[in-house]
Amino acid sequence: MANSVLKVSTATIAKMKEHYSTYVQTKSPQGAVFTAKPPGCTITAYHSGKVLFQGKNGEVEASQWQGETSASQANSTQKKPKKAHGYEPPQHIESMSIIGSDEVGTGDYFGPITVVAAFVGRNQIALMKELGVKDSKHLTDKQIVAIAKDLIKTIPYSLLVLRNEKYNQMQQKGMSQGKMKAILHNRALLNVIDKLEGTSYDGILIDQFVEPTTFFSHLKSEKRKLQGEIFFSTKAEGIHLSVAAASIIARYAFLKEFEALSAEAGFDIPKGAGRHVDVAAAQLMKAKGADQLNHFVKLHFANTMKAKQLASASH
Ligand code: MG
Repeated sequence: MANSVLKVSTATIAKMKEHYSTYVQTKSPQGAVFTAKPPGCTITAYHSGKVLFQGKNGEVEASQWQGETSASQANSTQKKPKKAHGYEPPQHIESMSIIGSDEVGTGDYFGPITVVAAFVGRNQIALMKELGVKDSKHLTDKQIVAIAKDLIKTIPYSLLVLRNEKYNQMQQKGMSQGKMKAILHNRALLNVIDKLEGTSYDGILIDQFVEPTTFFSHLKSEKRKLQGEIFFSTKAEGIHLSVAAASIIARYAFLKEFEALSAEAGFDIPKGAGRHVDVAAAQLMKAKGADQLNHFVKLHFANTMKAKQLASASH
């Protein structure tokens, strides 16, 4: 369990309550201002200013508010800036015309990796907000599907799906997942640039998964490489709506792939890479044969060995 505790001001607690308004619970413990349950996390804010983040996404949620803590405000003058990589997005990027990219599925044993690049021009930002586009961590699957269906009719985007046959083949040839992602981001972004047919944009924002220098070195063998103003940032979904939109479309595509795989499997296949996926993979092997795994899962995950042990133990 990745639990975190922050100490913040009353104003920040009010901001948090507003931020998590869709997840606020009707009941909260003694002394609490509110309890909210966004996906994978329980947040309890107390009148004392203490905010507790519990659950597997606890750390991630808490990290968003790190800058608001009393400690960070007190120390802000002496705090050393984070080492810059030279590709930081500029201030006010949120109001610029940006092509953003993000991916889904890299940590899931079952299912593909989906990578999406999407363009949101400065004059579409209000529309994106109206469609409900925001950081997909704060959206349910149902909301994601509804918003994505609008988005794919509204903005230029490119969706690339790397299914497991291909993924496993490349992995077995020695390609790292990081390199696959870099190649897919590069291609999806170039596809969107082509779709824009000369429409001007201010830059490209990639939801960072490796250091920019590593990203570019992964592209050495690509015939065509991204050029121009390229920015990298972690949590870029919260920095520009093009990345948030890309993330929503990527998750939507991932959910559709998951549905199709579940239909083929004959049962609901689970997300993630925990113990539950070992059990599901063992069940699948017994029903369809071990050779079918290649179609459903990322074989190099440690889950494969555990699933094989489970399947043979229950013979
Ligand atoms: Mg990402």
